[in-house]
Amino acid sequence: MSVRFIPEGTVKVPEISFTDTIRFPAAQTALLVQDMQNDFVEPAGALTIPAAAQTVAPIQRLLARARALDVRVVYVQDTHLKDDVEFDIWGEHTQPGTWGWEIIRDLEPRRGELNIQKNRYDSFYGTWLDHYLSHVWRVRTLVLVGTVANICVLHTAASAGLRHFRVVVPADAISALTDFDQAMALRQISWLYGGTVLRSADDIEFAEEPGTRSEGE
Ligand code: ZN
Repeated sequence: MSVRFIPEGTVKVPEISFTDTIRFPAAQTALLVQDMQNDFVEPAGALTIPAAAQTVAPIQRLLARARALDVRVVYVQDTHLKDDVEFDIWGEHTQPGTWGWEIIRDLEPRRGELNIQKNRYDSFYGTWLDHYLSHVWRVRTLVLVGTVANICVLHTAASAGLRHFRVVVPADAISALTDFDQAMALRQISWLYGGTVLRSADDIEFAEEPGTRSEGE
């Protein structure tokens, strides 16, 4: 391979090391649902990722198992006010109060679940996310699902990995515009940030371990 890269044809996907099944203590784990908003998921959205629709059912099943064992759930919502600089790249999207900004009905957050509004690809940037994960919930593991795989999912996974969280990403619960983008995100998350990637969200289990939740709860 030469150093220079000139796109002409196909690029071989390097090996991605998938984990088959995994089990986490419920009290030390949080589930983050990234940007599953109408603008990204619904056909009439401003920036639709067609593959995102297929991730809704696996995310619903994972959410149900997480909620059954009181795993902490956090929804992240892409949010931009008028004239945001990100509109120079993507055009207008996810402005608060609009239909496109709302989380899709099939994944509606429950009362009491944390909702983080973020402005950049990285969900930690300028938000309360680290405060809750590190100091309130004191979790070690972050299971990350949603969209877009190589944009907000990747940047949030990177930021979590750099903060020494264990990052877990099921491939069937994230989505991108192209197979290349999806593969690149999974490769970077597993190889560069030491994350755990699985083929399916159904292969993630949460286990109740009495006494493991932090004091004062
Ligand atoms: Zn945005």
